[in-house]
Amino acid sequence: MQRLCIEIQGIVQGVGFRPFVHQLAIRHQLVGFVKNQAGSALVEVEGPASAIENFLHELQTSPPPPLARIETIHSKVRPPQNDTTFRIVPSDADATGIIFISPDVAPCSACLQEMHDPNDRRYRYPFLNCTNCGPRLTIIRSAPYDRERTTMSGFARCPDCDREYQDSTDRRFHAQPIACPLCGPHLRLDHLRGEDALRAFVKAMREGKIGAIKGVGGFQFCCDARDEQAVQKLRHRKHRDEKPFAVMVRNVENAQSLCVISEQEKKLLTAASRPIVLLRRCHQQKLANEVAPGNPCLGIMLPSTPLHELLLEEMQDIPLVMTSGNRSEEPIVFRDDETDSLREVADVILTHNRPIHLRCDDSVIKVIAETAIPFRRARGYAPQPIRLPIPCPVPMLALGGQLKSVFALGQENHAILSQHLGDLDHYEAFLAFRETIEHYQELFDVTPELLIHDLHPDYASTRYAEERNLPRLGVQHHHAHLASCMAEHGLNKPTIGIIYDGTGHGLDETIWGGEILIGSYTRFRRFATLRSIPMPGGEVAIREPWRMGLAYLLDAGENENLLTAIDPQMRRVVHQMIDRNFNCPRTSGMGRLFDAVASLLGIRQRVSYEGQAAMELEWLANEEEGEPYPCDLIESENGQPVLIDVRPMMHTIVQDVVNHELPQRVSQRFHSTLAEITMRICERIRIETGAQDVALSGGVFMNELLTRQLVKRLRQGGFQTYLHREVPPNDGGLCLGQLAIAAALGEEAFAPSIPWGDLQMERQS
Ligand code: ZN
Ligand code: ZN
Ligand code: FE
Repeated sequence: MQRLCIEIQGIVQGVGFRPFVHQLAIRHQLVGFVKNQAGSALVEVEGPASAIENFLHELQTSPPPPLARIETIHSKVRPPQNDTTFRIVPSDADATGIIFISPDVAPCSACLQEMHDPNDRRYRYPFLNCTNCGPRLTIIRSAPYDRERTTMSGFARCPDCDREYQDSTDRRFHAQPIACPLCGPHLRLDHLRGEDALRAFVKAMREGKIGAIKGVGGFQFCCDARDEQAVQKLRHRKHRDEKPFAVMVRNVENAQSLCVISEQEKKLLTAASRPIVLLRRCHQQKLANEVAPGNPCLGIMLPSTPLHELLLEEMQDIPLVMTSGNRSEEPIVFRDDETDSLREVADVILTHNRPIHLRCDDSVIKVIAETAIPFRRARGYAPQPIRLPIPCPVPMLALGGQLKSVFALGQENHAILSQHLGDLDHYEAFLAFRETIEHYQELFDVTPELLIHDLHPDYASTRYAEERNLPRLGVQHHHAHLASCMAEHGLNKPTIGIIYDGTGHGLDETIWGGEILIGSYTRFRRFATLRSIPMPGGEVAIREPWRMGLAYLLDAGENENLLTAIDPQMRRVVHQMIDRNFNCPRTSGMGRLFDAVASLLGIRQRVSYEGQAAMELEWLANEEEGEPYPCDLIESENGQPVLIDVRPMMHTIVQDVVNHELPQRVSQRFHSTLAEITMRICERIRIETGAQDVALSGGVFMNELLTRQLVKRLRQGGFQTYLHREVPPNDGGLCLGQLAIAAALGEEAFAPSIPWGDLQMERQS
């Protein structure tokens, strides 16, 4: 007789792990127990040595439950206790350690089968789930994960559900959100309940009305995606002018009738995380034009809950627009007492009485260069931990940026990233940011001893850090982008970072954003940058690309009359601002260069959402490559960065515009120019430093055309390229880089000043 104590770390709570261990122990005729502690599962097994050995082997080799993720297994021998059975014992509420919580998961096939079986007691029940599926993060109030600490605590299990819950052979054994029509939550639409509520909602959708439906992490607005008037009404009421809407379809076949779908994309669409996948459209005319005006791509997702499954079935292959239930950029509405604000948009509200504790938007992914790149990491992904290359010496909190806000808790080797929290410009979003930080700290039992923030003094996240009475570390924006990409790939030697985004606070007080860095987690050097030019009006220039168009024209010594779409009076005012250097911060932002070219081509002079002009410029190009425009590199003295001088390109683009060259040709050539010049710089860095690894980060790398052209060139040139696959390339990924940098700095992170940008590169062999 022997007894072994085994500690298993990873996502092992709320995912059917204890039943899995229980069954394994029974099979090997062992006694003992399994229990959840904070952050791990603890198993003690007792029996003949050979049986224990087989048990341990099977634990390590047999596939765990689908949602479980084993990180480490540690075991030690203990004296036998002479147990008589194998038991699942209640959780220790006060144990310490890293806590893992599963993301919310779409219904599994076994549950769906039951839902469609007229003889099953959960036939057409929209809240069925099991240990392998269902809501998790969004219903948990506090850890450890047990029913009484979830929003299901108000529902007493009926005898049948309780039997399943207690039965170790049942697939709902210890499924915390277990429910059935008798004892669980119910649908509601005004005074209607259950099936009646669903039917009324379906009828409203068919009549072209706007609906609000309570999803996993909040309300969503929806309407018939083929109905031009309905979609227009939704845009109007939601104050969302042109930003594309996502569409929910019933199944892959329906998705294929709208878009071209690769095997990889099919896997993403059907994954348990059910993200919105951005796909290339094949039949523009099948949907209302207003869904995603002018966009060659369409965001598609499959039903993410049993309720959505039922709804889409009832709609009989009618695709539904499915968009966050909020006004313009405010946080998604998730409480039933906030539904008044939904009424301003929705004609009907389909809700239910299972409360949402934490709001969580839908995730967005796009496959670029065979890599599934997250654009927004939220439902289905958060709060799955990401492994840090270097462990955090103390618990830390990285606050990210301002737009597409995400924060991260760091403890030991793990980064726990929050779901996407939106733009902190909005006070509501900032409140949500603050609340969610508190919730995560409590849920994951992490008390940060260091705060890491962006260097931008006006970011709400920076101010949040300043207001806490804790040591803090400011990290340069583009260094954080680089470190974020390095961290996901576990890179640990000096890496070339091509960091192209719109804006980020630079070390020299100008606005950076067209940066080629060479760096590690602790140091970086700005090897090359886009020559900076005035950004007339500051932030206003982001909303009005023509201002950048004008700035680039004047910079290249060209005539401003090319901007015929702009009122000459306004042009003159901005011209004067530039001449007098009035409210004209200097920027090397790559996004601003895209804006300028979009403006010169007459594509867009004012945008209604971030990145719109750049995206429309990309959409124009229909072929992979164009002949690169001329573009110069200017050497600088005293270790200053090499400057990318686009004036020769601007001259040629102006000529092309004057000569009525096709805009798509200009767009193609523009993209190829950037890929070409970037490649040239990487080659120079390689000659100088020996660095071979290239990380691509920054919001511009949501641009498929540039990413593909650049990756192709780099790979052909013998470089190793690294694209984001865990966190977004945009500012939603900053917090991971911030954590990695602070972890690598160790003690130095607490030092008052760090010589950023002072990287002395050793030549690599
Ligand atoms: Zn299930
Ligand atoms: Zn029940
Ligand atoms: Fe950025």
